[in-house]
Amino acid sequence: MTNTTNANLFSRLFDDLDDAARLAIETPEGDHISYGDLIAFAGRIANVLVARGVKPGDRVAAQTEKSVPGLVLYLATVRAGAVYLPLNTAYTLNELDYFISDAEPSLIVCDPSRAEGFASLAAKVGAKVETLGADGKGSLTDAAAKEKPDFATVARADGDLAAILYTSGTTGRSKGAMLTHDNLASNSLSLVSYWRFTDKDVLIHALPIYHTHGLFVASNVTLFARASMIFLPKLDPERIITLMARVTVLMGVPTFYTRLLQSANLTKESTAHMRLFISGSAPLLADTHREWFARTGHAVLERYGMTETNMNTSNPYDGERVPGAVGQALPGVSVRVTDPETGKEMAPDTIGMIEVKGPNVFKGYWRMPEKTKAEFRDDGFFITGDLGKIDAKGYVHILGRGKDLVISGGFNVYPKEIESEIDAMAGVVESAVIGVPHADFGEGVTAVVVSDKNAGLTEAGIIAALDGRIAKFKMPKRVFFVDDLPRNTMGKVQKNVLRDTYGKIYAK
Ligand code: AMP
Repeated sequence: MTNTTNANLFSRLFDDLDDAARLAIETPEGDHISYGDLIAFAGRIANVLVARGVKPGDRVAAQTEKSVPGLVLYLATVRAGAVYLPLNTAYTLNELDYFISDAEPSLIVCDPSRAEGFASLAAKVGAKVETLGADGKGSLTDAAAKEKPDFATVARADGDLAAILYTSGTTGRSKGAMLTHDNLASNSLSLVSYWRFTDKDVLIHALPIYHTHGLFVASNVTLFARASMIFLPKLDPERIITLMARVTVLMGVPTFYTRLLQSANLTKESTAHMRLFISGSAPLLADTHREWFARTGHAVLERYGMTETNMNTSNPYDGERVPGAVGQALPGVSVRVTDPETGKEMAPDTIGMIEVKGPNVFKGYWRMPEKTKAEFRDDGFFITGDLGKIDAKGYVHILGRGKDLVISGGFNVYPKEIESEIDAMAGVVESAVIGVPHADFGEGVTAVVVSDKNAGLTEAGIIAALDGRIAKFKMPKRVFFVDDLPRNTMGKVQKNVLRDTYGKIYAK
């Protein structure tokens, strides 16, 4: 029975389930988990949490490999009224020290191989530790097997916290974004209808589940729609292409699309059963969009979001999916572009700071009231830190993170503009433009290029090709060739790594 007063995301997800036997998750090992199984499993784990002393509002931190029990731990935490805190599996114990000290969880769930390392971190904050391995085995699931499946979902209000996700923090300290039950529920429900999800859909889920994309967008949207998902531990292009014969949707970061394009098995025939390809978390090159369309006949639907805001914009389901644009504001979300200095709204097609407001936008940064205040305008808009513009049709175009803006000789240089010029040259695979300290100019525009080995491109050749196409002050002072750009697990180019690598090239 639907409990109308309980805004707990878990209740909103499952209270009106009509068919418990419906398939929710399938694993490569051949396990089939129904919605009923999922709810019962979440009940057992929620009982373990309570037995370990987890109370509503407490944080449950998890650094585990992707597994179905790992996802159920998230659902169980929310069900128990606690706050789920997933941690990137790449973090070392040294880095984890900060997250654990900052979040003060009452329970930590980690891979069995890390239990010892976590013990001392846990002791500092008085947390208990349970284990969960990639195979789904560990003390958490052992304990869950002994618990009852029944659990009374803890009532929560819209504004109560459901999760804290730490931002990737490529500059400065990583911040804990506090997400409420309603942030998560409202955004997922909006995406279900915008992307026309139904219970007939089958999603290929190959994203990590410690990040907003795989944890919230992929999982919550599937579950709200009563669709099902095939849980793959990671990107496996050939396996994904084989699965496309019986699934309907893929959600990926741009790397998924570039890697899939490298397979000769990606064709119109192999994608004929697919309904929708969605990309996000990093910019999808317009070239990749076009190549994908030429090869498969499908236009990738690109959307834009961030940890703090869930999803903000999306290309349309029916209308034009514009290569290189992230689409229009989702229903209920307001997006505007402002002058970064004055906060004044800019005219269409003018570059500025992207700001968003809506039920999707987080509550603030955990234990950082000053930082939170600084990143919201007085009228409630969140300053995303992304630079971009909105065109006359309302499509948002992202030009990069504000911190990646290059200021050379006092002039603003938007990296994306130079990157697009370089990317369009024959033989260029992709490029990244960064600003590097320069004695005369403040910052020197610097290009890092991945090229086709046989194209014979040179630094002088690229500079000559740009001559006359861009203003002199935007011209790269140096061009470097690399085999690959450094990327994080979500496919984002790590410009901070490039800035470190090339940081001293203009030093006198
Ligand atoms: P995260 O919090 O890790 O999800 O990172 C959010 C950031 O990723 C945004 O602020 C953007 O800079 C970037 N981002 C997400 N989606 C897109 C997209 N479709 N195109 C370009 N950048 C994106």
